[in-house]
Amino acid sequence: MSKWQEEKRLVLDTSRKMLEKGLVVGKSGNVSLRLPPDGGRELLAITPSSRYYDLLTIDEIQVIDFETEPVEGDLTPSAETMLHIGIYQARKNINTVIHTHSVFASVLSVAGLEIPSILDDQVTFIGGEIKLAKYALPGSQELVANAIDALGQRNAVLLPNHGAVGIGRTLREAFTICELVEKTAKIYFCSSVLGKINPLPAEAAEVAETFFTMLQSGDE
Ligand SMILES: [Zn+2]
Repeated sequence: MSKWQEEKRLVLDTSRKMLEKGLVVGKSGNVSLRLPPDGGRELLAITPSSRYYDLLTIDEIQVIDFETEPVEGDLTPSAETMLHIGIYQARKNINTVIHTHSVFASVLSVAGLEIPSILDDQVTFIGGEIKLAKYALPGSQELVANAIDALGQRNAVLLPNHGAVGIGRTLREAFTICELVEKTAKIYFCSSVLGKINPLPAEAAEVAETFFTMLQSGDE
């Protein structure tokens, strides 16, 4: 049995949940979890490329190092692997990355829109506005750099003409971020249709930002 059985199980369960909750269809999107370093080697467990989530098995979750060298599993890891590794390198307290194609987040990414700070929970858990990364081809190093740049110190980012990325310290936390991104995108879209968007009042944003900073410095 793999020494990372429990971690691989969590990645598998999260990828299925992502499908069941409608954040992706078929085999799109991807999930990873940072593993404890092994003999000085930095590792992650990640979903494989082009596998239907409803048929995915625990042995198909790949363990690779930060140079993308395989450690366990013989499938090709997700095409967005470099994005996951790039985020782990940029954000040391982050242990999980989830990339979804949820519908309203994707609508905004197609329209070229970012989501300003409009809701308390958005600011408290995501850290403020949800920015849209500059366009680059999926899987490219340029997209990795653009996404990390737009992510900053917040917990979510939109990928242009594509979808969203949510991050966290645990898979549960990152999954909730992905759900929150979709909820916020939906509310922003509906408010735009109504023709009126009141930004979050400055004092409310300030309180929520204080909570965000507190939450990020504590345990999940
Ligand atoms: Zn994608």
